Amino acid sequence: MKFIENFQPQLTIASPGRINLIGEHTDYNLGYVLPTAIANKIVFKLAKNNSKSQCNVYSVGYEGFSFDLNAVCKSASEWENYVLGVLSEILKLTNKVEGFDCIIESNLPLGAGLSSSAAMECGMAFGLNELFDLGLSKNTIVALSQRAEHNYVGTQCGIMDQFASVMSKEGHVILLDCKSLDYRHIPLDLQPYKIIMMNTKVSHNLATSAYNTRKRECEEGLTIIKTKWPKINSLRDVTLDMIEDAKDKLTQTVYNRCCYIINENNRVLEMAKALSEKKLKTVGKLLYEAHKGLSERYEVSCVESDFLVDFSKNYDGVLGARQVGGGFGGCVLHIVHENIATKYKQDCIEAYKKKFNLDLEVFEVKPTGGTHII
Ligand code: ADP
Ligand code: MG
Repeated sequence: MKFIENFQPQLTIASPGRINLIGEHTDYNLGYVLPTAIANKIVFKLAKNNSKSQCNVYSVGYEGFSFDLNAVCKSASEWENYVLGVLSEILKLTNKVEGFDCIIESNLPLGAGLSSSAAMECGMAFGLNELFDLGLSKNTIVALSQRAEHNYVGTQCGIMDQFASVMSKEGHVILLDCKSLDYRHIPLDLQPYKIIMMNTKVSHNLATSAYNTRKRECEEGLTIIKTKWPKINSLRDVTLDMIEDAKDKLTQTVYNRCCYIINENNRVLEMAKALSEKKLKTVGKLLYEAHKGLSERYEVSCVESDFLVDFSKNYDGVLGARQVGGGFGGCVLHIVHENIATKYKQDCIEAYKKKFNLDLEVFEVKPTGGTHII
């Protein structure tokens, strides 16, 4: 791309990935989640290019592309939709955006459950907000980024990923109520334990379609619950007793999905309490329970993730582990004592290689702040 040769950025934005300690698939059921941003990030370098409507965007490792602000529409190239979707939503809110150039660079693995997608959307939205002084609030940036993913990418995601990418605070997780959007930062003090992520390097390509299927199954359960309790508007407000009461009317699959969501919501609140009281054994126990639910009731795990979680159970010094993200691979989060962390990582890499002939990618994460100007 030509503009890159003489590119002089006016603004640089860091847009982080995120982990979610617990609360998987609860966001679109308007429940609770407990995420935080991490140091791995996407960096956006931006400059106005003095044209009225010509935009040029290049992401390292992809081809660049150009578009006109007067003709923003979906692209056949998936990644471009993360950019175009954000533009489309911003243009509904303001006419202050003009031509710009943007270079994107990332050290955030894709499809690994660290939400590179939300980092793309929120970084773009945050950057344009600063560059053109749009006056959008952080909440608006979060919401429009989610709509971009719905409308242009086609994943009917909840609000967690965008919220975590923008609103996180160093050293804390966010206890977010996805119904009211009330939130509270909770200090994440796991010492002497560390959070170690292991990228299984598998993404089973089921992720988008299965995600939308799970969402539909939850809606099916809700519809049946509503025939008896019409005032209930999300699984978040459904209890296990209500599900048992409705069991005859639910398919086994829908019953399982609903049970998982209700239990997972409860686990998020238990986790927040355990963190506040520094009950680290409980933290680990909840992670294992969450993974079991993901694997058996929500059926979004895979043999590779299950293998790592099982491996960790036989290892002294590991508190807990679970697959993170939408499912079918991506990263497995482990909470590991600092004294055994190095040996544990090596043993996992070896065992995983032997079993699947794949190279695990292992890295430590800490809670960091959300999207910001560098
Ligand atoms: P996750 O959010 O777990 O990383 P997704 O499948 O939701 O996985 O999003 C990954 C997609 O986001 C990629 O396939 C790509 O289209 C887009 N994406 C992520 N990072 C970048 C990047 N640095 N440049 C361009 N596109 C990116
Ligand atoms: Mg994503």
